[in-house]
Amino acid sequence: MNKIQGFYNIESNGKEYLCKLRGLLKRSDKRENCTVGDYVIFDEDGFITEVKTRKNLLRRPMVANLDFGVIQFSAKDPIIDYEKINILVLNSLYNQIKPVLIVNKVDLLDKIEFNEIKRKLLYLDKIDIPVFYISTFDNTGIPELTEFLKDRVTAFGGPSGVGKSSILNLLQDSRELKTGETSKRLRAGKHTTRDSRLLTLPTGGFVIDTPGFSSVDLPPTESPQELIDLFHEFHLAKGCKFNDCVHINEPQCGVKEAVEDGIIPRERYDFFKRCYEKSKNEIWNKYK
Ligand code: GDP
Ligand code: ZN
Repeated sequence: MNKIQGFYNIESNGKEYLCKLRGLLKRSDKRENCTVGDYVIFDEDGFITEVKTRKNLLRRPMVANLDFGVIQFSAKDPIIDYEKINILVLNSLYNQIKPVLIVNKVDLLDKIEFNEIKRKLLYLDKIDIPVFYISTFDNTGIPELTEFLKDRVTAFGGPSGVGKSSILNLLQDSRELKTGETSKRLRAGKHTTRDSRLLTLPTGGFVIDTPGFSSVDLPPTESPQELIDLFHEFHLAKGCKFNDCVHINEPQCGVKEAVEDGIIPRERYDFFKRCYEKSKNEIWNKYK
């Protein structure tokens, strides 16, 4: 990040300003005070006087106000992991980052296998999560993805080996954003960066390379209701008999009825039950 000796790069109306944080903002001296992607107010003396409320914050690398978080897997080699996709979607929603799914390496699939994957991911439609089927080998889906990412700030994450570098290479013009370079996207009082993990897109916008991972935990919700709120498709259900229904053992539960009627996919409901049990045993206990 381009906080050079306490200075921040701010872009406003196409011009760049080097600013410092006003003492009041600096006092707690945390890196989180002002970071890449923040919208700020600054005065004539070059002091940042206010950091606007963020819609979200990515921590590694630290970037504020993402438009999307891409969850990337490959169809095969390594094989797609539906449980992990589900958990990552929950984490993304928990962090107020809009999720998008990429399934790469579709060139390795025959028609039957491809249809099976599409069928299993159909539920993402119901919760407005876009899915891109990609092959970096034959360019499948790349034009659509390029169009989607245009002028946006998007973080890419996923396990290693799924072809993240291959996609990021295809998407960007292989230039890293250098100090002083401007982008159409970063305007009007926005803190910019020369972090090498932020890659400019030729169409405008940025993609952010986040570190790969092998395991991932459930989001640290504090109550059943907080978990339930992350399952947006439960809104498709009619009400439940009990106001505080957690959709597990209660009679006349609208969610369970919607599962019976095929409105909510059974696989999703089963996933919810696993999350419920695990959160109850490992997380919510702490809050009692
Ligand atoms: P990363 O670890 O996620 O950054 O993955 P890489 O981009 O390094 O790719 C991992 C491996 O997958 C390499 O051997 C790539 O050649 C291969 N790969 C990447 N994209 C595709 C694809 O669309 N189809 C196939 N079959 N292999 C791919
Ligand atoms: Zn219920």
